Amino acid sequence: MSVEFIYPEFEVIRNYDRCISCRVCERQCANEVHSYSEERGQMISDETKCVDCQRCVSLCPTRALKIVKSDCTLRENANWQSDTIKEIYKQANSGGVLLSSMGNPKPLPVYWDRILINASQVTNPSIDPLREPMETQVFLGKKPSRIERGEDGKIKCELPPQIALSLPVMFSAMSYGSISYNAHASLARAATELGILYNTGEGGLHEDFYKYGKNTIVQVASGRFGVHEDYLNAGSAIEIKMGQGAKPGIGGHLPGAKIVGDVSRTRMIPEGSDAISPAPHHDIYSIEDLRQLVFSLKEATQYKKPVIVKVAAVHNIAAIASGIARSGADIIAIDGFRGGTGAAPTRIRDNVGIPVELALASVDKRLRDEGIRGNVSLVVGGSIRSAADVVKAIALGADACYIATAALLALGCHLCRTCQSGKCNWGIATQRPDLVKRLNPDIGSARLVNLMTAWRREIMEIMGGMGINSIEALRGNRLMLRGVGLNEKELEILGISHAGE
Ligand code: SF4
Ligand code: SF4
Repeated sequence: MSVEFIYPEFEVIRNYDRCISCRVCERQCANEVHSYSEERGQMISDETKCVDCQRCVSLCPTRALKIVKSDCTLRENANWQSDTIKEIYKQANSGGVLLSSMGNPKPLPVYWDRILINASQVTNPSIDPLREPMETQVFLGKKPSRIERGEDGKIKCELPPQIALSLPVMFSAMSYGSISYNAHASLARAATELGILYNTGEGGLHEDFYKYGKNTIVQVASGRFGVHEDYLNAGSAIEIKMGQGAKPGIGGHLPGAKIVGDVSRTRMIPEGSDAISPAPHHDIYSIEDLRQLVFSLKEATQYKKPVIVKVAAVHNIAAIASGIARSGADIIAIDGFRGGTGAAPTRIRDNVGIPVELALASVDKRLRDEGIRGNVSLVVGGSIRSAADVVKAIALGADACYIATAALLALGCHLCRTCQSGKCNWGIATQRPDLVKRLNPDIGSARLVNLMTAWRREIMEIMGGMGINSIEALRGNRLMLRGVGLNEKELEILGISHAGE
């Protein structure tokens, strides 16, 4: 029995004085909200289907449309919030696990917003990035812990394989299948133009994108979809995905409906079959097992590629990272609990994992305390929203950041949080050809380049204000940070002083 108790979440407000019944909204809405009523001689809306993606609002030629959050309220209280009540109704109707996309929206602390950055005044001059050199390039990979000399007395300069980035930001893993061909094309082209890297995610690498290999991280996840020797050798680095911030401890599921055409070929699975990645890698039950996979991948690529191990930020992350740093991996990627996803069980997304700020600070400290910080570079992701977040992350000990949601926003995403439906009206999280073509890769890649160029400028300005002229000098420089409104324990874990100290 299905009983619909829930009033629509959004209302479509149509100004009939402006509406010319051009039916653009009807054509643009994959959720079939708008239609033309012959009987009434005007456009009408079915608000139950609206997800507030704002596509119709953006493209309405007469600005006749507005989508507003419904003010119809349930009788909520501090314990039973509207969202909680609605979720109960939904589950009572469906009997199913609730699915969501994008990151954790709960009002848990965002530590980036409680950390403030220092600036030079009087005694230490700031640096003007317009007039003085400023280095934003970083190299990710294992570094020697001390200077070594050969028998001839010369310093040994050979390093294990490194990733060179023009700025300390990369595009995080998003698989072909969860996002569209044109979204991947935009990311690949922008990464190439910028001199940074994008990441295939667990869906394999479309044959058209092998040419961007120098700027590609190829991922190996528990499903091993699309993994073969050419794939491993195609990228500049290989990432083993052990976990993901939006859904730590569980696998992935791309519905069979999205496994069509090229997606099926690229993943090397039959059309229409669900792509289910197991929760664990079935060959990894210890750090020794992880080490075996790290070295198998290095062996398969002639020890020419750095290997990244990506983990979700969880309670004992510092100990986990210590193990990974001893496994032979070159880079650890830590994904915080606000990290986005194309689809995750709502309950997992909203309740599992820890903030990446705390995870990063404790990992960096643990690795330094153990004298193995140089074994690995640290990359953090999970809601890096601006250049300021990047600067704070670097000062807390990161070598670089991963961004995904911010990159999708640059491509036109309006955070409607329904990627799991496959009906993304902006052509991003969809495989429907009519929707995919809405995202023009020329425009998409140009917008990503603009975003990163703006961030790079801002990073240089903030560093200059601190009197610092390189990412190298900023890394782990926690003296440049102060906390506001944080308790002793939080400050201790972050390793920073309170504002005013
Ligand atoms: S789903 Fe998007 S395009 Fe459709 S009515 Fe709602 S806001 Fe407009
Ligand atoms: S990618 Fe598309 S479906 Fe997903 S949140 Fe953004 S606009 Fe919505």
